[in-house]
Amino acid sequence: MTPHFLNALAEYGDLNESDIARVRQTLEYVAPALAEVRDRTAAAQLRVLQAFQRHEVADFHLNGSTGYGYGDSGRAKLEAVWAELFKGEAALVRGHMVSGTHAIASVLFGLLRSGQELLSVSGMPYDTLQTIIGETGDEPGTLKEYGVRHRVIDLGWDGDFDIPAILEAIGPETGLVAIQRSRGYDWRKSLTIAQIERVAKAIRAAHPEVPIFVDNCYGEFVEEKEPLEVGADIIAGSLIKNPGGALAPRGGYVCGRQDLIDRVASRLTAPGIAHDVGAALDFNRPAFQGLFMAPLIVEQALSGAIFAAAYLESLGYAVSPGPLEYRTDIIQAVRFAAEAPLMRFAEGIQMASPLESYVRPVASPLPGYDDQVVMAGGTFTQGSSIELSVDAPLRPPYIGYMQGGLSFAHVVTAVTCACKRMEA
Ligand SMILES: *Cc1c(COP(=O)(O)O)cnc(C)c1O
Repeated sequence: MTPHFLNALAEYGDLNESDIARVRQTLEYVAPALAEVRDRTAAAQLRVLQAFQRHEVADFHLNGSTGYGYGDSGRAKLEAVWAELFKGEAALVRGHMVSGTHAIASVLFGLLRSGQELLSVSGMPYDTLQTIIGETGDEPGTLKEYGVRHRVIDLGWDGDFDIPAILEAIGPETGLVAIQRSRGYDWRKSLTIAQIERVAKAIRAAHPEVPIFVDNCYGEFVEEKEPLEVGADIIAGSLIKNPGGALAPRGGYVCGRQDLIDRVASRLTAPGIAHDVGAALDFNRPAFQGLFMAPLIVEQALSGAIFAAAYLESLGYAVSPGPLEYRTDIIQAVRFAAEAPLMRFAEGIQMASPLESYVRPVASPLPGYDDQVVMAGGTFTQGSSIELSVDAPLRPPYIGYMQGGLSFAHVVTAVTCACKRMEA
């Protein structure tokens, strides 16, 4: 990917020789890391292929049902393939879940009962979950309103789980232990599968009964294993992130132990009809095709994140994770230290998007979030963050969270041009 691309890039972005030299050097620097990503995601591609074949997915499974959706064999097949890939006994993969937040809310409300405590062991959870829990704002229908308490155990100074504090905090009233794999809108490091395995083992040994939930958003297909394989009981995520492969137009998933999935299904629809209803309509085809494409798209997104980390670091910005650091998700955090460069970077990403390249992002309030949020990304699916996008709650130290990308060449172009815009 050099001579033709770099010439085209120079012309597209009106870049000078030293910019192009920096891009070339960055590409050389990250080449081994990109090869590693390619290798991992290629193995994931075969896991997906095999799951499709073992479950004998056929053309007619791509057609959805209408009305109640009784006997929607495509929906059932998609959930069986999902359960196999993520190593759960059962899965719910539904276009009826409006987002990752909804999938996670279905887990929390499905499993927790009045008088119980939700124990978050990876620090304060993601912004929208704080609202669900009742930590922020006074929305109706929060867990708090239902009499469910929340306790947070922060990560240790080293960014890892504080296992002694966690084991001590778990008691008879603990209804669910929750782990957030990805950093979310936080500068902390994302939690690797190996770290999740250690904490899950320790919890299981001391407290065999308490279910362990992992918010798996942005983590799918990045590592060889997924949380259910290392001791989690239930996971949830969004289909407009990694596992939808940028083709699923909406939806969320929950996967894990059968008894837990049954309770979540009763909450998602209603007791008695639980998983057996829900017309897929037009959802099955893009969900299957997106799942098949997901490892490739994750490869593009991860490669783009690695390039961005290296390029921005070379320009003096603090980045997390570092370009060559081990990754468990597709998020790249960049500390801009002031509002102006963050906004310029977001504008640059927007200007380099395939859609709405002519608009300028502005910070605005967003349902479920406390601070004003700036979001850049002209994406084919609204708000899709497996497509190249930058989100940032506007609060010091002005950290931008960049993620996604359907095409590595596009991410390199967008990042390079956005950096140029910051200089100007
Ligand atoms: C994206 C995300 C969610 C869910 O967000 P939605 O925008 O509702 O899909 C939850 N937790 C984490 C860590 C996330 O990254």
